[in-house]
Amino acid sequence: MSKIIDGKALSMSIKEDIKDKVSAAVSAGLRRPCLAVLIVGDNPASRSYVKGKVSAAEFVGIDSPLIELPESISNEELLAEVRRLNEDPSVDGILVQLPLPGHIDADAVLDAIAVSKDVDGFNPANVAALWLGRPCFVPCTPRGVISLIESTGVEISGKTAVVVGRSNIVGKPVAKLLLDRNATVTIAHSRTKDLASVTRQADILVAAVGCPGMISADMIKPGAVVIDVGINRTADGRLAGDVDYEGASEVAGYITPVPGGVGPMTIAMLMENTFESYSHSMVAPGLEEMS
Ligand code: NDP
Repeated sequence: MSKIIDGKALSMSIKEDIKDKVSAAVSAGLRRPCLAVLIVGDNPASRSYVKGKVSAAEFVGIDSPLIELPESISNEELLAEVRRLNEDPSVDGILVQLPLPGHIDADAVLDAIAVSKDVDGFNPANVAALWLGRPCFVPCTPRGVISLIESTGVEISGKTAVVVGRSNIVGKPVAKLLLDRNATVTIAHSRTKDLASVTRQADILVAAVGCPGMISADMIKPGAVVIDVGINRTADGRLAGDVDYEGASEVAGYITPVPGGVGPMTIAMLMENTFESYSHSMVAPGLEEMS
């Protein structure tokens, strides 16, 4: 049986640590960190994601003004809102909840977020910095994936890693972060031939596909670290990952559950990125070391 990588517990210890750091900063007379959260329209899934982020911010002591904008907002109005937050010195991080309505140019909105406040790490300048190995905000889900792998104590360097999925927000940055840690990385996708023969090579397997249960036990190398990024709603209303958890946990060495794996870590990393932005903007003695 595999060891379960408990993302809920790990994310809680990260949040507790940030909470202590925020409380120390506030006790030293500094303002609280601030994450501005923009949501456009009434998408129920987006509302629920935003609720999770705002309540995590409350827990750690980060101010998180929720800016609710109507579905009918124009591109220009939304860009103006982003620019206003860019210029507000009390705002450390700006999060625009995706997806945006179809009439909005989402790329233009993400591009407009100041790089220094881009705590989601989606601005092209941040993406370029990540690929060039320069200081940047590491996108939250990929950062969470790496923390989960590192929490097992399994050495990444020299291992064979396979990432299934090549999206800009998960697959590609996860692959880059694994490469930075000296794994030998393969990125698989929908055109990969004989996916099982590729995934069976993996000492570290990350599934970020969006297809419930598609990674079956026979696709996993015995003892592998398996990280399941997928969040899928099944026909009977359950949440399911991309990995067939029951079967896979008989083969893998370590495995993340869904829910309770990558999801809570994504939110913890958003808090971490916001606190880092705050530390840089406050340039207060001691704060840099705390981040
Ligand atoms: P995308 O739809 O953007 O990308 C999915 C990727 O999977 C694509 O690269 C696609 O390949 C690949 N793919 C699709 N079908 C197959 C297949 N049969 N075999 C191999 N590869 C396949 O999804 P995201 O990266 O945004 O999200 C992936 C999953 O992770 C989703 O379930 C999402 O809900 C979840 N997620 C979870 C987060 C969390 O916090 N836990 C955060 C973000 C996402 P191709 O490029 O060829 O089309």
